Amino acid sequence: MPRDHITTSEKAACDALTPLLQQLGGYLDQYLEFNHPDAQTNTSTWQRELGGTLPENGIGAEQVIDLIGHHLIPNGSQIPKPGHTSYITTGATSIGTLTAFAGTVAAPQRFGLTAFHYLEELSLNWLQEMFGLSADMKGIYSSGGSVANLVAIGAARQQAFEKIGIDPSQQGAIKPCRIYASEACHHTIRRAAGVLGMGRASIVTIPTDAQGRMCAMSLKAQLDCDKRKDFLQVAIVANAGTTDTGAIDPLLRIGEMAREHGIWFHVDGAYGLPGILCDETSHLYNGLELADSVIVDSHKWLGAPVGIGATFVKDMDLLNRAFTQEEADYLEGTYSQDSKTTSMSDFGIPYHNLGVELSAPSRGAVVWALIQEIGKSGFKDRVTRHIDMARDLADDCEDHPDIELVVEPTLSIVCFRYVANGLDQDQLNQINKQIHQRLLKNGANMPSTTMIDGKLVLRPCFIGARTSHTQADDLLNEVLSIGKDLSQ
Ligand SMILES: *Cc1c(COP(=O)(O)O)cnc(C)c1O
Repeated sequence: MPRDHITTSEKAACDALTPLLQQLGGYLDQYLEFNHPDAQTNTSTWQRELGGTLPENGIGAEQVIDLIGHHLIPNGSQIPKPGHTSYITTGATSIGTLTAFAGTVAAPQRFGLTAFHYLEELSLNWLQEMFGLSADMKGIYSSGGSVANLVAIGAARQQAFEKIGIDPSQQGAIKPCRIYASEACHHTIRRAAGVLGMGRASIVTIPTDAQGRMCAMSLKAQLDCDKRKDFLQVAIVANAGTTDTGAIDPLLRIGEMAREHGIWFHVDGAYGLPGILCDETSHLYNGLELADSVIVDSHKWLGAPVGIGATFVKDMDLLNRAFTQEEADYLEGTYSQDSKTTSMSDFGIPYHNLGVELSAPSRGAVVWALIQEIGKSGFKDRVTRHIDMARDLADDCEDHPDIELVVEPTLSIVCFRYVANGLDQDQLNQINKQIHQRLLKNGANMPSTTMIDGKLVLRPCFIGARTSHTQADDLLNEVLSIGKDLSQ
């Protein structure tokens, strides 16, 4: 047998993408008509078809595509539906999906001097400009808001410890720390503090007002109080769009306080940063320019496939000191700075030293493609449309005697509940829970719920590129009709 022989059993398809893609495209377009039953309805069938035991012998690419088309895709998620408004996730747009796929094929890593690598920096610069971040901010992609927050808080930790002569990336966070964030901050902030060795208990939560915004006076009192204690004050985290209600903290006041106390100012805009594009809400972002770090998720309002978030900081070298993986012979050793003869002669920007991932997909090309497709004005229109939908729904809620608007919307999230005469709080929570269950079962309008001051509320977040005014109207009508049905 010749030494380069690839056995039949080992041989995997590495070509012939066109016919396979054509087939896959057909299955996916059909899926996107959303006529299939919910995956839950026939679990045992598709689990059986997709296989339970380890295959000893392969079935070949065509057969795998067949399984994908008939049993995998039709039992996928409800998330891409236009009426799905749960959490803050949505289906990706076509161009984002296809560019991610192109990167998988043509640029399996983000490093090397390739066109894909070029688009990492270019698209990050476009995001920085589009969202009005300081011109001196530079970005780095990661898998999403969780890691983007981790990277930002890592930079804050580095700066705070270096100020007292300690390198925390070498020595650890060897002094008790304090990170200030509102009660409504995302869970990932707490986890980031834990992962970075400062401990989850280092997070001090600051109360919020009725709108869900951090109370600046309480923050001030807390900062002053801790100053006299032996804590290292590492960061103040503000929200530009909370996950629960979409509230935006008073960024200018908080930013000024951070300056005054010499504390890192981080803005979590995973969901809400694009709200700066809307004329009605852009003023709420005053003070963003004071931020030392800002994050945004491209896979939320921009409609990228899941797995793309970005962190922006002013001082990239700080990220390098916090996160460098240190030189490796197999990596840096193979690059020659003198002779840039091929795309493999240079890493380009060493993003792997600025965050927590080495291998990573080419995410920049995806964001570049999203922006190329509809431009800044396209995103402005989408964001404005969703914010208008939330306002209109809120108005309709206020006009209707059987509906209570529980929180005035700031961005594209509305918190409301069905209120029937004579029911107490517990019963109202019960009935709204039942309404929610029924909505999910019907499967056309699928919001999430959350608790606001003891009230269980329905919480649609309008974010999908496919989601339009119809879905807001349909949701309210369905809630009213289920509510009526249940209260009879
Ligand atoms: C979604 C979200 C996150 C977490 O982002 P993932 O992409 O889900 O990891 C963090 N902060 C806020 C405010 C969010 O809305």
